[in-house]
Amino acid sequence: MSDKSDNHRSITIIRALRSAIVFALIVFLLATGAVSLALFAAPRISSFQGIEATTLYAAVKSVGYASLGEEPHIAPIEVTGAVPICPEVAESSIKPLKRAFALMRGTDEGSRLFDVLVDNEICVLVDDIPYNAAYAESRRTFPDDWSSSRIVVDRSLVRTTSVDLLAAILVHEATHIDRAVSGTACFFQDTCERLKNGVEIDEEIAAHTAEAEWWIAAFGVDGKRFAFQGDYGENKLAEAYLKGEEAFRLYVFDYRNDPREGIGI
Ligand SMILES: [Zn+2]
Repeated sequence: MSDKSDNHRSITIIRALRSAIVFALIVFLLATGAVSLALFAAPRISSFQGIEATTLYAAVKSVGYASLGEEPHIAPIEVTGAVPICPEVAESSIKPLKRAFALMRGTDEGSRLFDVLVDNEICVLVDDIPYNAAYAESRRTFPDDWSSSRIVVDRSLVRTTSVDLLAAILVHEATHIDRAVSGTACFFQDTCERLKNGVEIDEEIAAHTAEAEWWIAAFGVDGKRFAFQGDYGENKLAEAYLKGEEAFRLYVFDYRNDPREGIGI
């Protein structure tokens, strides 16, 4: 009885061991199968050959920007009618300028300033400017024609990667034009404070105010998160604007007091 019992126990143990071995073997086969499948599948899944590099880059960038909150908070309004770009502007500059105008039009004031340029037939030129980012040249011809006025933007800013910065600068320069056309610019009355380098501080405060307000509408009171060079400058300008009138005046005074102002213009 005991032999039979011992024998039965041995058979049970052997069966259990065999089950364990079979189970381990199945797990092993499944595991190795899964690994080989993964190894095989990985290159297929990560195959981006069918996607153009530029499309992929744009997709990665847009996902990155969206997750960082870098996209401007204002919706661009595409230009459907006349675009204030001078005919001599190179083809490669037209797309970034159009995109900047669309973004500029995303705020009520930006839209109004854009219309001032179009209504007065004033266009934007691209050139190499040594120190300043851009400038506005207001010129009136008899009887009340402002169409020979120009906004000139430095070539380094006319890029699809800095469209928001370009839009903020266009808002600034269009404000100078608007003040000229409406008769409120500093050159009409000689009461504005002028710095040693020739910069009229009240004129610049008006233009920088419009620029800062547009930047705040686009990126909020904390500004653009990942900001370098020009973007960083816009963040600092907006920060100073939010501190109040006196702080902003002092900031603009300091910022525009450089002896290199107006070089090559
Ligand atoms: Zn200015």
